[in-house]
Amino acid sequence: MGSIAFFGCGNMGAPMARNLLKVGFTVRVFDLNPALTAPLSADGAIVAGSPADAVAGADTVITMLPHDAAVRAVYLAEQGGLVDLLSAGTLAIDCSTVSPECAREVSAAAHGRGIAMIDAPVSGGVAGAAAATLSFLCGGSADDLERARPFLAAMGKNTLHAGSAGAGAVAKICNNMLLAVHMIGTCEALQLGADNGLDPKVLSDILLKSSGRNWSLELYNPWPGVMENSAASRGYTGGFQTDLMNKDLGLAMEAALHSKSATPMGALAKQLYALHATHGHGKLDFSSILTLLQKEN
Ligand code: NAD
Repeated sequence: MGSIAFFGCGNMGAPMARNLLKVGFTVRVFDLNPALTAPLSADGAIVAGSPADAVAGADTVITMLPHDAAVRAVYLAEQGGLVDLLSAGTLAIDCSTVSPECAREVSAAAHGRGIAMIDAPVSGGVAGAAAATLSFLCGGSADDLERARPFLAAMGKNTLHAGSAGAGAVAKICNNMLLAVHMIGTCEALQLGADNGLDPKVLSDILLKSSGRNWSLELYNPWPGVMENSAASRGYTGGFQTDLMNKDLGLAMEAALHSKSATPMGALAKQLYALHATHGHGKLDFSSILTLLQKEN
């Protein structure tokens, strides 16, 4: 089996790297924060001290980074950027959620050096990353995607081809705009029910068997205590940060501006998440938007 260099071992990257180790890949991990890579050595990862150290001998690179600036820094930095460090023929898979422009720019630079590349942002959250049930929304050539399949299969259950380079990024921002809208709608419905005397758990069970059923309600209930393993039940920690949702909604709004698309619900969701972040909740899980709707707040 080949050797993988894995960049970005945060909430998503660490469990994804663990799943690659579980099926027997050799994985060299690198993160700007060494406290996040050290625990992975107990799972068999080789902890790298620099990007060059991480890619030594690797035929595949996987990146799981926060935003466009980090992806551009890792791939395109004048000194030590992956596009320069990697040998021709290496496969690069970027799983970060970034703008379509960033995905296309990095892919073009990689292909210019003979590096195969796909953008493969994910859906499924931290729980999906831990359980290896992520969906990968992929952009790139069919040939590059075929090469990536065994790695993606170790970390997820769906590999979906959206189109050419950048198409995975477009699919991802459409998905997350919809996720933000139905998370806020779910919070509104639960708060309305609670304000009118219903138990949020009872209301959740009713909605799950009614036409209001949706992913947030089914797998990510925002009300603390309703779902045992939800971010809400652990103080809104360890999930998908409000700051990252804000970033994704910003990407959706930029894309809508370019394509002259009407996205009124997405625009309102963006404003509500921005407001929530200004209240000091940027690092909390995005389902904490519930608290913005509560009277005591
Ligand atoms: P995170 O902030 O927990 O992890 C990102 C990691 O990247 C951090 O540990 C950071 O130190 C590292 N990093 C930043 N710049 C780096 C660099 N130059 N070199 C090496 N490491 C660097 O974020 P996350 O929640 O793991 O999310 C990662 C990506 O996945 C984001 O683009 C996010 O939008 C997307 N995403 C997250 C979720 C979720 O539920 N958390 C779900 C789907 C998609």
